[in-house]
Amino acid sequence: MSANNVWVFIQQDNQKIAEVSIELLCKAKELADQLHVETNGVLIGHQIQEEAKKLIPYKVSEIFCVEDPRLKHYTSVPYTKIIVELIKKHKPQIVVFGATTTGRDLAPRVASHLKVGLTADCTDLQIGDHIVGNKEYKDILYQIRPAFGGNIIATIVCPETRPQMATVREGVMKITPLDPHHKGKVTAVPFSLEEKDFPSKIIEKILEEKTVDLKSAQVIVSGGMGVGSRENFELIRQLAHVLGGEVGASRAAVDAGFVSKPHQVGQTGTTVRPKLYIACGISGSIQHRAGMDQSARIIAVNSDPEAPIFQIAHYGIVGDLKEVIPLFIKVFKSKN
Ligand SMILES: Cc1cc2nc3c(=O)[nH]c(=O)nc-3n(C[C@H](O)[C@H](O)[C@H](O)COP(=O)(O)OP(=O)(O)OC[C@H]3O[C@@H](n4cnc5c(N)ncnc54)[C@H](O)[C@@H]3O)c2cc1C
Repeated sequence: MSANNVWVFIQQDNQKIAEVSIELLCKAKELADQLHVETNGVLIGHQIQEEAKKLIPYKVSEIFCVEDPRLKHYTSVPYTKIIVELIKKHKPQIVVFGATTTGRDLAPRVASHLKVGLTADCTDLQIGDHIVGNKEYKDILYQIRPAFGGNIIATIVCPETRPQMATVREGVMKITPLDPHHKGKVTAVPFSLEEKDFPSKIIEKILEEKTVDLKSAQVIVSGGMGVGSRENFELIRQLAHVLGGEVGASRAAVDAGFVSKPHQVGQTGTTVRPKLYIACGISGSIQHRAGMDQSARIIAVNSDPEAPIFQIAHYGIVGDLKEVIPLFIKVFKSKN
């Protein structure tokens, strides 16, 4: 029985499943367990059933696969039509999408067709009750996200309509261990689409090579305004290089032109969860912390002993980064 389940839109690009979809399947399972229902996925594309099977060990009960050569690449109209029809038929209570370019285009279209609410860019999802006057809503979805420039964390609910829908930021939900023995199934769903369902055609797809991979980096060395200049940022690069890590930055450092935007960590940058995060010359604004406070170990280097970054750092060094970082580099180099 599929009604009331928790659904994840599984994004594929060139038949490769987006990591955020796996993160969401893991979170969906947690929510589904609390609600005593099952987790389902929807995967749309061409020749994608084998990829779908690989997702079952993430404790998914059923993946609905819609395949057609014309669906190989995402386009708004047919994907929206398919998801809307499947939701109408199976009536899930929750549907979540990654807050990727695709998810941000698709989810609002689906919500608008179904006339339901949608919370964009969530950083957490929980199940809880909600009371309005003398009416109590049991077990609804708390859609949690920063609001007002990240100064408050808002919990948003859509208690009246179903499904409850949200897009979720990449990298914020943890991937849980696989269960190779989990029993689930992939169901091919026949779906008839006409030529008029494809008003736009993809003529050519050019994928820009990713030069910065903050999300999967185990070590990140980040620089902020305290680095002082583009030239000084070379120190950050050197330390990252010695540690085999990636270079991160605060938004202020990006805005100042010290380093390019793909390096930005934080609320409007990338959310990271490395084993080691070294913050150099970064004050620790709430918007920066939102993107890195789940790092396993945080080292902060700052000349101001009162800098807020020290509140979340496991190790703090009060000093001038231009003196501290060369010492770090020297010590790490001597150990290798
Ligand atoms: C809607 C919104 C979204 C935002 N999104 C993001 C985001 O995604 N990521 C992000 O980072 N910010 C974001 N911001 C900006 C954020 O509010 C801060 O302005 C920014 O994080 C500050 O960057 P910083 O710590 O590098 O600079 P500053 O706050 O200027 O801090 C510089 C630090 O360097 C220290 N310092 C100075 N000289 C040295 C030295 N020689 N050695 C050691 N330490 C030194 C200083 O003591 C200070 O603590 C956002 C803001 C808004 C409103």
